[in-house]
Amino acid sequence: MIKANDKNIKTWIEISENSDFSIQNIPFGIAKVKDEVFVATRIGDTVVNLYTVARLGHFSIEKEVFASCRLNDFMLLGKQVTRDVRNEISAIFNVNNELVKNNKELQEALINASEVEMLMPVEVGDYTDFYSSEQHAYNVGCMFRDPNNALLPNWKYIPVGYHGRASSIVVSGTPINRPKGQQKPKDEEPPVFGPCKLLDFELEMAFITYEGKALGESISTDEADDYIFGMCLFNDWSARDIQKWEYVPLGPFLAKNFGSSISPWIVTLDALEPYRTKRSVQDPKVFDYLKCAEEKNIDINLQVAIQPENTKETIVSNSNYKYMYWNMNQQLAHHTINGCNIKAGDMMASGTISGNDESAYGSMLEISWKGTKSVAMADGTERKFIADNDTVIMRGYAEKDDIRVGFGEVVTKVLPTK
Ligand code: CA
Repeated sequence: MIKANDKNIKTWIEISENSDFSIQNIPFGIAKVKDEVFVATRIGDTVVNLYTVARLGHFSIEKEVFASCRLNDFMLLGKQVTRDVRNEISAIFNVNNELVKNNKELQEALINASEVEMLMPVEVGDYTDFYSSEQHAYNVGCMFRDPNNALLPNWKYIPVGYHGRASSIVVSGTPINRPKGQQKPKDEEPPVFGPCKLLDFELEMAFITYEGKALGESISTDEADDYIFGMCLFNDWSARDIQKWEYVPLGPFLAKNFGSSISPWIVTLDALEPYRTKRSVQDPKVFDYLKCAEEKNIDINLQVAIQPENTKETIVSNSNYKYMYWNMNQQLAHHTINGCNIKAGDMMASGTISGNDESAYGSMLEISWKGTKSVAMADGTERKFIADNDTVIMRGYAEKDDIRVGFGEVVTKVLPTK
């Protein structure tokens, strides 16, 4: 049992009802206040400057790591250290810790979330995107190939993935310009060049790794948890028309690498342990190196909303991370089975997460069924894909026994083509 996960712990910091940031969460992020950048956690609406906490001598490790502008240095200390620090934070802010509660100096570390700018939490070294939701792969297969053979023959044997681009992964609040590129809207006519017309989100989650093993070594499904630091929400922006024309034979390229947006708080895998749930039934049987323990999926409620400019949002999807066919342990085992090494700060996304029900589809491609159906917005307009000046908002949280461990939001406004 991880100490900080104890559901009986209460904190002396005020937390509003249904806050994503319970005292059992204790995520990590990089915050900026005025000119100071520091490693932070969040409890309720209070952002805690962990560098200040460290300077006051509350942690068992050196303070310098908390003055960093990225979590990579913290992750390089390994799982035991990051787990200990999370437990220490839990103890500092425990309601029974009278000594600390009345410490005036510590108050300096507490900042209202509204006064804080959240920065990119991790310097992402390599980014891999999987394709691990069966319903999503099935839907795409139905639309573009054949409903009777929607899944390609390899899909239930291999956690399919591709190497994406790390430089264009940006934090919530960073706007994305509509990409331009080549498209081929009509089969019988030559391609055209211009702004993407079928701009889409992909509802995904990503995990961030600790330093892995040496080149040539593999990480087993049993070992995988020890190499995963935490998770965030991941909006993998996609230009469907550019993708359709360019993806043969080597897969996605410019349709994907113009931007992916993440939520700023990295929720540790430790904090998510209480929300484990059964993995998907896998048939046919998987290879031995992909076999894993039963309770390896995680029950995380996911939501997507579209907010046209100057008006209310409309929720267009309610999905769940537990729908994954291949889980993180299997993804990481597969990624390294050939000896590929992973580094601290690598990011691996799940692939679009769609549930069986239409209301749980994780992309506009599926929600509008390739543009054949419109979705009504609260302001009376309609969407098949994402329009200029729309803001896409993704949210996610796990909840059990009235304890919520959430991710907050990833909020991205789409600007016109540059
Ligand atoms: Ca994707």
